[in-house]
Amino acid sequence: YGDGNIDGESQLLSDEGQTPEPLLGSLDIFIFSLIAGLLIYWFLFRKKTDDSKDIIIQTLSISNKGCSFELFIHQSNRNVVVFYGSQTGTAEEFANRLAKDAHRYGMKGMAADPEEYDMSELSRLKEIPNSMAVFCMATYGEGDPTDNAQEFYDWMQGTDDDLEGVNFAVFGLGNKTYEHFNATGKYTDKRLAELGGKRVFDLGLGDDDSNLEEDFISWKEQFWPAVCEFFGVEATGEDSSIRQFELVVHNDINMNQVYTGEMGRLKSFQTQKPPFDSKNPFLAPVSVNRKLNKGGNRHLMHIELDIMDSKIRYDAGDHVAVYPINDAVVVSRIGERLGVDLDTAISLKNLDEECNKKHPFPCPTTYRTALSHYLDINNKPRKNVLYDLAQYASDPQEQENMRKMASASPEGKALYQSWVLDSERNILAILEDLPSLNPPIDHLCELLPRLQARYYSIASSSKVHPNSIHICAVVIEYTTETGRVYKGVATNWLKNKEVTENGHKHTVPMYVRRSQFRLPFKPSNPVIMIGPGTGIAPFMGFIQERAWQKEQGKDVGETILYFGCRHKNEDFLYQQELEEFERVGVLTQLNIAFSRDQERKIYVQHLLKKNKEQLWKLIHSNNAHIYVCGDARNMARDVHTAFYEIAEEVGGLTHTQAVDYFKKLMTKGRYSQDVWS
Ligand code: NAP
Repeated sequence: YGDGNIDGESQLLSDEGQTPEPLLGSLDIFIFSLIAGLLIYWFLFRKKTDDSKDIIIQTLSISNKGCSFELFIHQSNRNVVVFYGSQTGTAEEFANRLAKDAHRYGMKGMAADPEEYDMSELSRLKEIPNSMAVFCMATYGEGDPTDNAQEFYDWMQGTDDDLEGVNFAVFGLGNKTYEHFNATGKYTDKRLAELGGKRVFDLGLGDDDSNLEEDFISWKEQFWPAVCEFFGVEATGEDSSIRQFELVVHNDINMNQVYTGEMGRLKSFQTQKPPFDSKNPFLAPVSVNRKLNKGGNRHLMHIELDIMDSKIRYDAGDHVAVYPINDAVVVSRIGERLGVDLDTAISLKNLDEECNKKHPFPCPTTYRTALSHYLDINNKPRKNVLYDLAQYASDPQEQENMRKMASASPEGKALYQSWVLDSERNILAILEDLPSLNPPIDHLCELLPRLQARYYSIASSSKVHPNSIHICAVVIEYTTETGRVYKGVATNWLKNKEVTENGHKHTVPMYVRRSQFRLPFKPSNPVIMIGPGTGIAPFMGFIQERAWQKEQGKDVGETILYFGCRHKNEDFLYQQELEEFERVGVLTQLNIAFSRDQERKIYVQHLLKKNKEQLWKLIHSNNAHIYVCGDARNMARDVHTAFYEIAEEVGGLTHTQAVDYFKKLMTKGRYSQDVWS
């Protein structure tokens, strides 16, 4: 937008120049020269900042947006491109692994972000002999493509390009607890074939509800032989655990040039500039942090982030993303275990100079920053990490076990399942329990996945709180099978961001992600909200907004909440606020299922069934909108079933008709879910 301003203003100047003005006084000339001088200075200055920005973007290889296939086709000798539609980084990780594997078959691969390429040139891939495009496509939300695959998805929908001669394969990443399982992967596979592309291998459907990693490995095990047969090539026998990045140690670096946790621009945390997004998060001060539950051994918290002066806008129902920092104690213990000075300044530089991705995370940085801000050290490592690290185990038994766990053999699968997954061993636990394993820390940093932002449903309305964003979350902490304490990274980090007596406020790097979870356009439509536990979060925003609408004199329809918790005296979240909303008539009905206050469990769906006549009338005759938020695995499904039963019992529909009925409500945006598993 800066360039636009410059053009506009220079246009204004030349227009003035065309109007003859014979009598210019010296004061006029002076003012004119001053303005011109200032403009020139401003232009040069702007140019300089833009240039420096370019350099930073290049070093981070953030974007090559709209990159033509030309570069790919004529300036590199790659023949396998693995595109990823990734929201949380897993699809990107899988794409990298496939691109790396290509090496074993004498092919040259690269992983690519579809957002950075002009995907409308996909048909040009056939210009490369023996080439193939692989797609690792995650499905997100209500069957949607990920943000970075949206444009590509839109293109597929609208194009009638001929993809004859383009070889492709698709692996989808999804979760069976969600309604539209793997919708994006399925669509990509079907659409590319419809457009004439040649499917080299069958669509893979990964299910994160069971074991995504195993699904991927099993698919990969069959995929490569199929590729070999298709192209008539053979495995070269070369190991795929080759390094992708080389270590550069900066012994004499100006620490001002070293990344300290920024996601994009260096020093962006010191000089904050809007607009704020995933590459440029806003450092929001924590202005409130209070415990919500009165008892029990959990910690449920209400946090308020101050967004004053940030120009950040949000709507009730949106999500706030926060970038957490790993536990400093765990980071230090990794350093100690590997005998490394974590404050060494380093870069990991891609050995493949043509590759877009110059570094695995912002570099130069220190090991400590990488392990604290950029790498996921808390989760259970995937199989490829074990496979690549195995070479550094000096004890043959430990090495063999690691290789076994990384393999697709039934014995290996069982060992990985019990020793890594069920026992919840993170990388530190693995290093502690395999004493002969001593990998170089830079290789470990290359292999670990990126630490992802965490999303929370915003628990406030911007109409009432334009300058703050509220979060309601439960701190995750429990003891694992090996006796270690598992602590959720983000919730434990947030919990410690207390507002001190002297008014010091901790900050949180954050940005807002838009959602489709919205109140009805017409306030007079009734709303039925179902949100047990922390599922109450977005409804605090909705209720505040309905109260505000009422204050504005709007005709606000019925506002009904179904909330559930364990005990009335323990975790009745926002009790005071909710009871007050009910007292003043904003909440027309407050239904609460206290699940453990009596012998028999009472859940929200039981209360829904109790009020079935009223609910059916609201849904069928009064255009009510239904919202469900919280646990996807059990609660959301059970609530859905309760609605089917209501439609059958009160509406007289058959089961098939009931399923169809609610499907239609979903399409019309009258049954919305914000659920997690
Ligand atoms: P919670 O306090 O554990 O549960 C809230 C209420 O829901 C309790 O009364 C619980 O009863 C009840 N409930 C349990 N199963 C139910 C079902 N099938 N249908 C209806 N109600 C049911 O809630 P929370 O701590 O907010 O967590 C809710 C769920 O979301 C948990 O599974 C949690 O792990 C998950 N969660 C995930 C994330 C994430 O980001 N992935 C974040 C927060 C929460 P009982 O416990 O007495 O059975």
